[in-house]
Amino acid sequence: MSVLYLTDPDDLASLLGDQPSYRSDQLRRWLYRDPVLEADAMTNLPADLRRDLRLWPFEVVADQVGDGGTTRKWLFEAPDGAQIESVLMGYPRRATLCLSSQAGCALGCTFCATGQFGFTRHLEPGEIVAQVAYAKAFLRHIGMPDTPDRLTNVVFMGMGEPLANYRRVREAIRRMIEEMRMSPRSLTVSTVGMVPGIRRLAEEGWPLNLAISLHAADDELRSSLVPLNRRYPIEELEAAALYYLEKTGRRVSIEWTMMDDVNDTDEQARKLADIARRIRAHVNLIALNPTPGTDNRPSTAERMDRFVEILKGSGVNATIRDTRGRDIDAACGQLRARQMEGQAVSVRVRHS
Ligand code: SAH
Ligand code: SF4
Repeated sequence: MSVLYLTDPDDLASLLGDQPSYRSDQLRRWLYRDPVLEADAMTNLPADLRRDLRLWPFEVVADQVGDGGTTRKWLFEAPDGAQIESVLMGYPRRATLCLSSQAGCALGCTFCATGQFGFTRHLEPGEIVAQVAYAKAFLRHIGMPDTPDRLTNVVFMGMGEPLANYRRVREAIRRMIEEMRMSPRSLTVSTVGMVPGIRRLAEEGWPLNLAISLHAADDELRSSLVPLNRRYPIEELEAAALYYLEKTGRRVSIEWTMMDDVNDTDEQARKLADIARRIRAHVNLIALNPTPGTDNRPSTAERMDRFVEILKGSGVNATIRDTRGRDIDAACGQLRARQMEGQAVSVRVRHS
């Protein structure tokens, strides 16, 4: 049976046999504009057709709720066993989905649970878009407390390096913009610094937000945390960030995971301020979510405040990101990590 979200939206008609041609438009609308959790809820399609359609390219193997119902984390599993993790975070005026672009990641950042497990495979455009559709359907048909019923933002901050899966991620973004009618301004691609990918993305003509995971302000420290820095050092990354700003008019943000006594010193703050000023970036700080594979600890609250003070004192815009989902291991790769240790989790839910 063909899986609807794995089918190119332009090819839906070919799945429908001798159905009248307006059926594929109806189906397209259900998939991308008004997603539902079960094929059977696509009420204007004939019942026998609904029975024959398979919506999701994965099963939900874990479904966890945190932060009083305003954080929801799903672990999906594809038929080949690849695991895909998404986190939905609800706020009074927005709902943000953090999605995965690869199963695993080959780049091996030392502090990252995904990096510690290595690479399984790239996700297909349909597997990326299906995460968005699932979150949209969930908000609309189940919902979260004190949260709109509409998905307002998508960030590529789950598992994987989106710019290492460029072609498929590009097609997924195209479907989000053209089929789901999401604004490029509501989408954020996060990269650890794939310089050629940043330049390519700048040329696509979409005003997407770009987040650069910097974590260290000199090459020696950065290369010890982010192995890719040996290939694309900070100077090249800065040039690519400026190119992105010039081409898209969008300021990039710098992501900085705060690790106790590693990258939270006054010296790093001053060097970071220089970089942020040069590329006109905003800085987002987030305390490390400790992972089994490293001894690093999160920075203390006092250190984080001091770090922000130095940045602000140098005229750099900086915010401390909230750490949603701590109680459900919602940081990058962590639910999968738990599951593999055999400690997890919950019910298997089957969706058609
Ligand atoms: N590969 C991309 C996107 C996925 S990671 C990138 O690295 O940007 C998304 C974000 O989670 C990155 O900013 C990454 O540095 C951060 N992150 C990874 N492991 C973390 C951890 N253990 N605690 C806090 N943030 C972490
Ligand atoms: Fe990959 Fe990003 Fe994790 Fe680094 S931080 S290992 S690039 S997912």
